[in-house]
Amino acid sequence: MSRKPLIAGNWKMNKNVSEGAALAAEIAGADIDYSTRDVLFAPPFTGIYAVAEAVKKAGGKALVAAQNIYFEESGAFTGEVSSGMIKSAGASWVILGHSERRSIFGETDEIINKKVKKALADGLSVILCVGETLWEREAKAEVETVLAQTGKGLEGVEDLSNVVIAYEPVWAIGTGKTASPADAEAMHKAIREYIAKIRSSAAAENIRILYGGSMKPDNAKELMACPDIDGGLVGGASLKADQFLKIINFDK
Ligand code: PEP
Repeated sequence: MSRKPLIAGNWKMNKNVSEGAALAAEIAGADIDYSTRDVLFAPPFTGIYAVAEAVKKAGGKALVAAQNIYFEESGAFTGEVSSGMIKSAGASWVILGHSERRSIFGETDEIINKKVKKALADGLSVILCVGETLWEREAKAEVETVLAQTGKGLEGVEDLSNVVIAYEPVWAIGTGKTASPADAEAMHKAIREYIAKIRSSAAAENIRILYGGSMKPDNAKELMACPDIDGGLVGGASLKADQFLKIINFDK
């Protein structure tokens, strides 16, 4: 198994242009072995260009993502941003289907699937987020929910080589509650088995599945030790250079 860990920071609606550039410069310029891990920054749209420039100055090894795109190329879509626009600003990745997009902005699996297809067609790599609510977990519907989101999000996407899945239990995002390594591993394994069923065993073996939900310096090592956990999608702890660097260097 040779999946390279990916540690991705989702900055959400935080950091202005200069703050974002400074944070990216500090982290990307630190002691990171990029041959054994990928590191990604997802600033708000306004920060992409400055973060991409800061990453270039630091050696160009970290990855830059947007937190969303719209599925059209251009036109009368006030307030939206296209894949071509984020690429021209310096992003090569995009996070899609985050639970905040689903719950606050009403994004459905169908909308997310259109965005996934548009991003991939335009040469972006995608982090597709899936995850159950507390209510769904208490109703023992967590696996069914997560696999349905995975299947619908990837409908019509045959080649998964530019896709990463992030399993983020909604009840763990920004709450300080983390899924236990055993519960997280069980879901990651279920997702991988499902990918084998709907695509191929090679696709399942190769796809990276990240854990998200209050990943922090003190729980990253244990989570990352799980065989089906290939990295983290980190919110709060990605906003402080020292904390994010400890997660990036989880094995040091
Ligand atoms: C997230 O935003 O994807 C996330 C996991 O946030 P946090 O790490 O703050 O729970």
